[in-house]
Amino acid sequence: MPHKWKEDKRAYMKEYMAQRNIKAKEAIFAFYRNKCNWPGCTWNDPRALQVDHVNGNGCLERKHFNDYYSKWLAIQKRPEEYQLLCANHNWIKRCERKEFVQPGTPKNQEQAGANSNESSAELAESRPQRI
Ligand SMILES: [Zn+2]
Repeated sequence: MPHKWKEDKRAYMKEYMAQRNIKAKEAIFAFYRNKCNWPGCTWNDPRALQVDHVNGNGCLERKHFNDYYSKWLAIQKRPEEYQLLCANHNWIKRCERKEFVQPGTPKNQEQAGANSNESSAELAESRPQRI
């Protein structure tokens, strides 16, 4: 059974990290003026605003970190690589630029069908792993 002070420290750190993440998210949104960066879009409800990677390599970054604090540190170093988009425009951009395709995966179902000689083990191996 863990000691009481260990539980207290764990709870304290959990709350500290949560607060740090909230503050970082607010800082990021304020930095990008709390609105969607899509031309002509005026969406500014933070519930549907998302941090987007301009060059679409967010899946690679998420392997290393997936919290607003780390993202805020990266944005301060390279602000031109990120932008705020509303959820609709973020998905539209992903579809138009096929950003949902990750390295090592078939680009679409047609290509997946064309490679039907691959065994299911090979396909499973080529799929990205969730973190
Ligand atoms: Zn938008």
